[in-house]
Amino acid sequence: MINTQTSQIFKTGDIIMKQGDVGDCAYIIEKGKVEILVQGDDGIEKQVGTRSAGAMIGEMALIDKAPRTATIRAIEDCEFIAISAEDFVRRLEKSDPILKMAIRVILARYRDIWQKFSGNQGQQERATAESIEQGYTADSQAINKVKLANELKGAFEREELFLCYQPIIDLEKGTPAGFEALMRWNHPERGFISPGVFIPVAEEIGFIHQLSIWALEESCKALKRIEDELKIEEKLFMSVNFSGDDFVSENFAEKAKGIVSTAGILPSQIHVEITERVLAAEPDLTRDVLQACADNGMHISIDDFGTGYSSLSYLHQFPIKTLKIDRSFVVEMLKEQGSLALIQSIISLGKNMGMSIIAEGVEEDSEVDALKQSGCDMIQGFFFSKPLPESDALAYVKKQFGK
Ligand code: C2E
Ligand code: CA
Ligand code: CA
Repeated sequence: MINTQTSQIFKTGDIIMKQGDVGDCAYIIEKGKVEILVQGDDGIEKQVGTRSAGAMIGEMALIDKAPRTATIRAIEDCEFIAISAEDFVRRLEKSDPILKMAIRVILARYRDIWQKFSGNQGQQERATAESIEQGYTADSQAINKVKLANELKGAFEREELFLCYQPIIDLEKGTPAGFEALMRWNHPERGFISPGVFIPVAEEIGFIHQLSIWALEESCKALKRIEDELKIEEKLFMSVNFSGDDFVSENFAEKAKGIVSTAGILPSQIHVEITERVLAAEPDLTRDVLQACADNGMHISIDDFGTGYSSLSYLHQFPIKTLKIDRSFVVEMLKEQGSLALIQSIISLGKNMGMSIIAEGVEEDSEVDALKQSGCDMIQGFFFSKPLPESDALAYVKKQFGK
């Protein structure tokens, strides 16, 4: 529902809005009746219609501040609910991009048609042209997003998506402990599209769950192949990213367990990676699903730790085994004393709660040293390796294990 104010009352004969004035709100007529008057180029005002309870008036002011295209006068005692343009625009900005664009375009076109109909093009023509123009330019981003959304499902079917695996190094042993599976889209025309761009789109269009399940299947199979080739005693893990929507899907934990066992790896080798934001958004549901995953033997990791909600109270309520310190802290670590202190606090907090710590985005050997000294368990970052296609990831770990 649009945020409404208390009703505004107008008496018969009152002018509600005047043609040419700048409008900043629309009204819903709760009671009574109004007439719509338009002044032509000859200066004569004529009635072009009436509106009664349930109708909206002044709606074009919701998209821009162009002058009112008509005068509206109460022909009965009226009550209105006002909808401010500011409130409407704020809501519109948060809405689905297609919906947003359609509303803008429809209202702008409507104004255009209305002006032609009322024979009153002169003074407002420029404002209309500008409002339509703005509608289109402001939404070019939305257009790209919509295009991407339309292409994504086809791309998945055409197998343009694939996974890379970034090694995660155990600092004490100096060898890989596991990988993080990271999705890639090789677009035939646009080249590689970052998951930072297409994952949020997949989330918006309700396609993320299909992608997540595919990523889990593929990465489990890849881990099994790597393990079979590597032939070492030690079990490596595979960290897989999940979104909030994954947990809404029925029987997520059971589904994941089935995938893991079909691939022939242990549930404990799968690290379910989620951000703090997911925990905070649906704490009850997430707690249940994560608990079911943990009961099935899977390992839970918190991604981008420190960037989401500052409340730490949730940490002990979830079966979390690993905290991944966000790259933004690592980047600042040696430049700013506060960041190092923060990292050290996260490490001791996690350790006190029996968790292991991974630092993300490590690029410099000085960062490795500082993290090692601070008691960090594992490191993921370009310093050791970028995310690699499966064959390169296998070659990397083989080399690290002297095979
Ligand atoms: P993330 O989960 O935080 O993944 C880590 C990101 O940091 C990856 O970016 C990785 O390539 C990058 N990175 C790792 N080490 C370094 C480093 O030393 N320096 C720098 N500059 N960057 C480093 P990527 O692969 O572009 O992924 C971006 C984000 O997209 C991921 O952030 C994750 O949120 C999302 N994502 C990727 N794959 C998946 C997926 O399969 N499912 C879901 N739900 N999200 C995914
Ligand atoms: Ca991640
Ligand atoms: Ca991360």
